[in-house]
Amino acid sequence: MTFKNMDAWRVVLSMIETIQYNAAYLSEIDGKIGDGDHGINMNKGFTLCKTRLEGKKYTLSQGLEVLSRTLMEDIGGSMGPLYGVFFDEMSMVCGGLDKIDVRAFENMLKAALAGIQDIGNAKRGDKTLLDTLIPGLEAYSAALADGRDFPAALDALKTGAKAGWEFTKDMVAKVGRASRLGERSRGVLDAGATSCYLILCAMADTVKTILQ
Ligand SMILES: [Mg+2]
Repeated sequence: MTFKNMDAWRVVLSMIETIQYNAAYLSEIDGKIGDGDHGINMNKGFTLCKTRLEGKKYTLSQGLEVLSRTLMEDIGGSMGPLYGVFFDEMSMVCGGLDKIDVRAFENMLKAALAGIQDIGNAKRGDKTLLDTLIPGLEAYSAALADGRDFPAALDALKTGAKAGWEFTKDMVAKVGRASRLGERSRGVLDAGATSCYLILCAMADTVKTILQ
């Protein structure tokens, strides 16, 4: 099974709508151990991207590129560059592809992870979006290794990401503003891990609807 780069502009749109819908929730989570701006910043960037894409015809790779540039250049906070790199790496991997299969999508996720690890200094377990992304990708790759098909691998991505995201509640923040709270950062979900979970779910659910 594959999906067409050309049809997958919907993936970009669904991520935008997910962030818009959850903006207040993301800020509420960030407000518990951070400055409460995560939802505001993300919503600003994703909404600006929506405006830039409106009325245009674009592929997945083109949409991801606009999203990346908007997040890097036009939103504040630490998350803009991180998600900027995330979407830029995905866009570069699929840029030359007409059709995207289960392996190509894995390569997109791997490149996105490597890009974030390149520019940030967070490790797994530091209570960041990596704690959603890494277990999600591992579950996806494990499903592939088991010979599962594309939809099943996407379900595994969501399941792995969800478990990792929920586990950030028990973690002590090691990087960013929340790390200053030390032990007091325990007991609260990480905002970046939450937005990452929402983004991966929107991606997986929408890809499933356009698989052929
Ligand atoms: Mg913040």
